[in-house]
Amino acid sequence: TKGRFLPTPPSRQLTLADVGGAQEARADLQDVIAYLRDPARFQAMGAKCPKGLLLVGPPGTGKTLLARAVAGEAGVAVIQAAGSDFNEMYVGVGSKRVRQLAEQARKAAPCIVFIDEFDSLGGRRGRPNRSGEEEVTLNQLLVEMDGMAGSEGIVWMAATNREDMLDPAVRRPGRFDRIVEVGLPTAQDRLDILKIHAKSAPLAPDVDLERLAQLTVGHSGAELANLLNEAAIGAVQDDSPVIAMRHIEQARDKILLGRVRAGVVIS
Ligand code: ATP
Repeated sequence: TKGRFLPTPPSRQLTLADVGGAQEARADLQDVIAYLRDPARFQAMGAKCPKGLLLVGPPGTGKTLLARAVAGEAGVAVIQAAGSDFNEMYVGVGSKRVRQLAEQARKAAPCIVFIDEFDSLGGRRGRPNRSGEEEVTLNQLLVEMDGMAGSEGIVWMAATNREDMLDPAVRRPGRFDRIVEVGLPTAQDRLDILKIHAKSAPLAPDVDLERLAQLTVGHSGAELANLLNEAAIGAVQDDSPVIAMRHIEQARDKILLGRVRAGVVIS
C-alpha cells in the first residue's frame, strides 16, 4: 500500500480547455484557481480559501475532469481517491486510510484532494445499513478537515450524485460548504465536448458534429467521448483512413444495443 494516494504533479495535468461546457461550474471554480495561484494576495486581505467543494451532478459529466483541470490551471498537484477506497471490513483500516490521505495531502500542499463517489464515505451516519466502522472513517475525515496544522493550501473536492444522502456534518462551514453543480450538457456544451474529443481524430467531411450534438440529447460528456471512441475503433476495423458518419452511427447502435442487453430502458 506504499503507492496509495500519491499526488499527480502539475505538469501532467489538464486545463479547463479540456473540459467542454460546465459554464457555471467553471465560474464557481475561478476563485479557487486564483487563490491557489497566488495565496499571498488573498491572505493579505484576510481571505481564506474555500476548504471543501462538493461537485454535484450525474455520472460522467466531468466532475473528475474539472477537479484535475482546476489543479492544472492553478499549477498544483492533485491527489485522487474514491469513497470506496475507505470501505474496509477490518477495524481501523478505513480511518487509517483517511489519515494516510491527509498525510499525503499535507506533504503535497498546495494541492487538491479529489474524492470521487463521495457518498460511500460521506453518507449519513446512523442509517440502518451503515456500519459503525464507516462512521469512524467519516469522523476521521472530518477531524482531518477541521485540523489546523499544515492544512493551509489543501482544497478538498468531492464528487457525488446524491447530495441528499450525505451526512449533514459534512456540509458544515469549513468543510464541504460550497456546492458546485455539474449538470448534463446542453446542445452547445455537447458540441464543445465533441470538438474536444474529435481534436485528435481524423473526421470525414460527412461528419457533422453540430448535428450530432443536436441528436445526442441527454448524453453525458463521458457518453459522448465513448461514442467517438467506439466510432474510431470501428473506423480502424473498417480499414478506413478517417472516421465517417457511418462509423458514428454504427457506434451509436452498438452502444444502444449494449444498453438494451444490460436491461437499461431507453426513453
Ligand atoms: P463519475 O461521477 O461517474 O465519476 P465524472 O462526472 O467524474 O463521472 P469524468 O470522470 O470527469 O466524469 O468523465 C469521464 C470522461 O468523460 C472524461 O475523462 C472525459 O473523457 C469525458 N467527459 C466527461 N465530461 C466531459 C466534459 N464536460 N468535457 C470533456 N470531456 C468530458
